[in-house]
Amino acid sequence: MKKLVIKRVNFAFSFALVISLLLIFTFGCSALPSPAPTLPRNVILIGWDGAQRNHVKESLGRGELPNLQQLSSEGNIVAIDIYRVTDTKAGWTQILTGYEPEVTRVFSNGRYQPIPQGYTVFERLKEFFGPENFVTVAVIGKKGNMEADPPRLKPFEEGEGGVKYELVPGGPYYYTKDSMDVFINGQGKDEAVGTKAIELLEQYKDEPFFFFVHFRDVDLMGHQFGENSEEYNDALISVDIWTGRILQKLKELNLYDNTLIYVTADHGFEEHRRTHTDAPYIFLATNDSMVMRRGQRADITPTILDRFGLDLSKINPPLDGHTLTKPYQPPIW
Ligand SMILES: [Zn+2]
Repeated sequence: MKKLVIKRVNFAFSFALVISLLLIFTFGCSALPSPAPTLPRNVILIGWDGAQRNHVKESLGRGELPNLQQLSSEGNIVAIDIYRVTDTKAGWTQILTGYEPEVTRVFSNGRYQPIPQGYTVFERLKEFFGPENFVTVAVIGKKGNMEADPPRLKPFEEGEGGVKYELVPGGPYYYTKDSMDVFINGQGKDEAVGTKAIELLEQYKDEPFFFFVHFRDVDLMGHQFGENSEEYNDALISVDIWTGRILQKLKELNLYDNTLIYVTADHGFEEHRRTHTDAPYIFLATNDSMVMRRGQRADITPTILDRFGLDLSKINPPLDGHTLTKPYQPPIW
């Protein structure tokens, strides 16, 4: 009789132990650090040149940008604030390098020089993965302010002493283009840019890649008709459609699930105006659910490099931006 009781106690004890272990396993796990995120195979950075944050926000509210909406719902959409010159040269240089202009020497459309060799996201990725193992592509709508031309002497005055020349510096991407698989600028209209990008996705689908696809028409319509014009709004709707076609192509190629997509702008537009001299409000929309805070243009390259698994602390010179996948409090002084 006594033995039986002991057995029952043993059984009850074992039962309680199993339940406790189950509880620890089920609920205890959430207290453990989350596992490292899976690394993407590919990244596409899509540029909507001149897309003002507030206008994008309003268009999203009206349901006019379903592809941006869908992308953001899979990851996040965050505010990007600009502290430097709000133009194209300064903008894309900062976005594609993660540096302040003091490092790249690209300050504005009028004050620039070639970005030092090796400093762009394209070159960092080529170096990290090995040039033969990774594809970098840029399809750029604009030519002006996205140049890769060599420096040249331009005659500007003919006097008694002969012709005087001025030195036109090389374009920002003069060195960058050399290490890239494809560098196309001046591709023109959004339709031409989107068509070319889709064609190149097909061509490079078998290798890991980083694509930069730059659409120019929103900026163009802003300059011609103003930020609150129907034309500016229609250009946003159109660039959203082209963005959607790129996403659709990725799905058809079975690449969507391991491709991170980021959509951003180089600068905004002044409200009601045709200029963006002081237009510091833009955005970053992405299917990357690790993006968790607002930031600045120079944070975008660190985010991409971080997501590809690069150790940002080893990059030289140190990046000015910080990955948007981690909290960052800028020093107050
Ligand atoms: Zn512009």
